[in-house]
Amino acid sequence: MLSYKSILLYSSLVLQAQATVLQFTNPNICCALLHSKFPGHSKVFSSLAPQYDDLTFYWTPTAQVLPRCVFTPHNTNDVKKAVKLFARRNCQFAVRSGGHSYNPGWAGIKRGVLISLGNMNHTSYSTHTGLATVEGGSRWTDVYGALLPYNVTVLGGRNSDLGVGGYLTGGGISFYANKEGWAADNIASVEIVLGNGTVINADRTHHSDLLRSIKGGSNNFGIITKFRLMTVDATGIFNGWYMRYPLASTDAYLAAAESYCNGGVDTDTKSHIIFSASIVGTNPMTNVALMAYDGVLDPLSPPTVLEPFFDGTVANATFQWFAPNGTIKSATDGLRDAQGSGNRYTMTTVSIQVELSLLKKLRAAWLEMTTHNLRITPGFLVQFAFQPVGATWIAASEAKGGNSMGITEPLAVMWIQLRWDSKDDDNTMLQYSRRLIRRFERIASRAGKLANFRYLNYGDRFHKDDIIPSYGSGSVTRLQNTKALYDPQNVFGRLVPGGFKIPE
Ligand SMILES: Cc1cc2nc3c(=O)[nH]c(=O)nc-3n(C[C@H](O)[C@H](O)[C@H](O)COP(=O)(O)OP(=O)(O)OC[C@H]3O[C@@H](n4cnc5c(N)ncnc54)[C@H](O)[C@@H]3O)c2cc1C
Repeated sequence: MLSYKSILLYSSLVLQAQATVLQFTNPNICCALLHSKFPGHSKVFSSLAPQYDDLTFYWTPTAQVLPRCVFTPHNTNDVKKAVKLFARRNCQFAVRSGGHSYNPGWAGIKRGVLISLGNMNHTSYSTHTGLATVEGGSRWTDVYGALLPYNVTVLGGRNSDLGVGGYLTGGGISFYANKEGWAADNIASVEIVLGNGTVINADRTHHSDLLRSIKGGSNNFGIITKFRLMTVDATGIFNGWYMRYPLASTDAYLAAAESYCNGGVDTDTKSHIIFSASIVGTNPMTNVALMAYDGVLDPLSPPTVLEPFFDGTVANATFQWFAPNGTIKSATDGLRDAQGSGNRYTMTTVSIQVELSLLKKLRAAWLEMTTHNLRITPGFLVQFAFQPVGATWIAASEAKGGNSMGITEPLAVMWIQLRWDSKDDDNTMLQYSRRLIRRFERIASRAGKLANFRYLNYGDRFHKDDIIPSYGSGSVTRLQNTKALYDPQNVFGRLVPGGFKIPE
């Protein structure tokens, strides 16, 4: 029989639960209010609308959650009116640009309202300022395509299908990163709709604290409707290719990787390398270097920093172009096509200071856990990858006003990428990635080489509360102060549940 005390406890839990539910307006009401603000059939779509399925399609089905309705603003004023309404009526919502986040509910919401920025996808270029203005729902393929006639480009996704909104507010690793810093560092200004519905422009003179905070601060401050981006020259040719090496070359491959990460990269910042090893289905494992060069590449006479990868130091290479003598657009479209869409997917990340013996240990741990703990079936891909954030990259970030990510010393961002076919394997794959990254942390920590930083755009749902704290206490305090100033009602924390949040 229940005691009086446990009945009281139960009743108070029920009341608390009801209060939590009542805190937000029923999403049916929110959708109806939105519909009355935007009558007609062009901006608000319920699940009965023929467009609903397309609007709730994500790059990976792992990310898919179903909102009560989808709002597709056409301009900043639409976004402003919707945010004002949601804030006043306590409606929960999500913000989506390209929808490439693989974490369910990050750029989507179960039951609430999804603001999908896909119709806000215009890019323009000013020859006067040298800046590109890119709307917040654009995809990189369109941005690159619009800018190439001017012989310029911007720092954006290596896979051209990514959206600009999530990518830029998460940091953004582009093919130009080694020279120009994070893509976010190259934002000259933003137009942003704040939680109270006001629209402001933030640049290095006005609201500079806000501009700095959104560089790595994700969706915590408002909805960015326009990014004004610095451009780089794109008159020359751009090359992208894969090098594959058999297992027998692993030691030489890791030694060459270590040397590139620890200084090599800074000797030629036109180069760009992601080092990886992949197990794809039941195929044997291979070492792969995804490389790009902002310039001419002759495989018989490569730039000095790339020589070990071509001259037999890392033996028995197979060379495969995805963008021979092309442009940034052909390279990133090539990767988009190679990476495809529609698989179940997750990523998880940690950062380290690079040391050869540590690389070997981490790779061995990955290999052991992947072969022993995972059922390798067709559709499975598990990739172990890393790339350096070198001294020139960090200096470029600092010179352009700094960001939120708090990196002061060179490191390597390391990530695990997983694909699989069946929803039935979700739990196995997610738990595997969680255990593996914990093991990496232990190994790197024991070696004294674990870096604090976790890259937001490669973060997983299990680290929802760890990503922003990994920027360090100074950055977190700055983010909290900016948040208090620009979103004092915490609209983007309270009403937007998805994404990586600033600790309160
Ligand atoms: C196949 C693949 C390749 C990738 N390659 C790279 C790469 O080369 N370099 C790299 O750095 N990352 C890469 N990523 C990671 C990628 O940067 C993130 O997934 C990023 O979030 C994608 O941007 P998006 O606009 O499509 O995001 P979305 O999924 O639309 O949004 C992600 C988050 O950003 C918020 N958000 C989106 N738009 C706005 C806005 N306008 N204002 C405020 N908040 C907003 C959303 O609310 C959400 O929380 C890759 C991911 C995948 C799956």
